[in-house]
Amino acid sequence: MDMFYIGFRDPLFSIIIFFTIIFLITFFSYWWGRYRRKENSTHLDRFLEQFRALPSENELKVLISSGELSQKSWMLLAASYSKNGDYEKSIEIYNELLKVSEKENLFEIMFILGKTYFKAGFLERSRQIFLEILKYNPRTPQALHYLLLVYEYMRDYQAAIDVLEPLDELGEDILLDKTYLTALTLLQNVKFSEEEKAQKLLNLYKENHKLAYMIFEFLFRVNPQIAWENLHLEDAELLTEVLWRLDSKDLNLDIIAKSKYLQELYSARGDVTLVTESAIFELDVLIGLQGRANATLSFEYVCKSCKATNPFGFTRCSACHAIDSAMVEYGLSKDYIKEFSEENNSFQ
Ligand SMILES: [Zn+2]
Repeated sequence: MDMFYIGFRDPLFSIIIFFTIIFLITFFSYWWGRYRRKENSTHLDRFLEQFRALPSENELKVLISSGELSQKSWMLLAASYSKNGDYEKSIEIYNELLKVSEKENLFEIMFILGKTYFKAGFLERSRQIFLEILKYNPRTPQALHYLLLVYEYMRDYQAAIDVLEPLDELGEDILLDKTYLTALTLLQNVKFSEEEKAQKLLNLYKENHKLAYMIFEFLFRVNPQIAWENLHLEDAELLTEVLWRLDSKDLNLDIIAKSKYLQELYSARGDVTLVTESAIFELDVLIGLQGRANATLSFEYVCKSCKATNPFGFTRCSACHAIDSAMVEYGLSKDYIKEFSEENNSFQ
């Protein structure tokens, strides 16, 4: 037992005490360092969070009513929220600004608020705002244009057509809007059969040669024969996708033979062999391939007014709201449908 006993005055005892103290100091300084680092990082996170988080509705109320920032700065901030797709915050700011703004800015803010409601898809609120503006300023074409769009998106085409009257009185060009809304009303009407709609749309087209894409896309679907007979060959390029997807049995070879473009298009698809080359690269490649590769045309639509692109054909641009502004652009892509049908056949 004595061999394990270390005397109080033994030098070994002092050494043990010395190392114990060193160990305790190291241990506590390590944990203290860890604790401080964690504290600092939590504090920094909390500090940065203030800038990441959006101000709450109540914070906004206080900030806007205190008048520390100018109204213009708030408008810029709201516009940037809206641009980034945070319509909710943008709407909150405009609503608060309305409460504190002077009378001369009131309608300007209301107009922007109405536009933001429209972009965010709150059509009813947007409608109420534009109606309120027009109640006091009936001769505001911008508000009337937006009211027309709101009714159009609500599919209340008759109400949209009614808005055209004051716009016409203000000297605005309403022909395209009127034709487009008439066409939409026709398509929505359940009393007409598809054939009747086709005939009425064709009559509309004959009046002013507008909405070629919208009308002929419908006609080629419902009655390809009358579509071919009435197609203006200068519209053929815009309708390339519709014509490209047309069933072989619905082709009108007499009309195709009259147009160089249509000859090239259907030679590229392999229905006819009327030409051996094309000035259009994509068609030239497909004519040259003669169906030996799994390639087809792919389509994209560009708005002539705002240059926004869309994978589908459109009549009213969803970005700038221009009508009949679509322009088709095409490229070459893999023919997945052909590949899929070939794969299915090989399993049979
Ligand atoms: Zn556009």
